[in-house]
Amino acid sequence: MDQNCDECKRVWRAYAAATTEFYSVDKQLQTAAKGNRLETVASLVSKLETLEQAKVAAHEAISQHEKETGHR
Ligand SMILES: [Zn+2]
Repeated sequence: MDQNCDECKRVWRAYAAATTEFYSVDKQLQTAAKGNRLETVASLVSKLETLEQAKVAAHEAISQHEKETGHR
């Protein structure tokens, strides 16, 4: 990441936020699964799928930006 580039900071921050949220929901899912709370599990699984896509999209935004600018 180029410390002087606002776009680098923005895409990395978005990726970090998506990753943090993904692991937070993943943890909630494990707790719900242990407690056998099936409805909660189902809703968290679908949330996790959405977050997984957001994580992939955020990572692609980083790759794209790095490719366009040569920033690393
Ligand atoms: Zn940049």
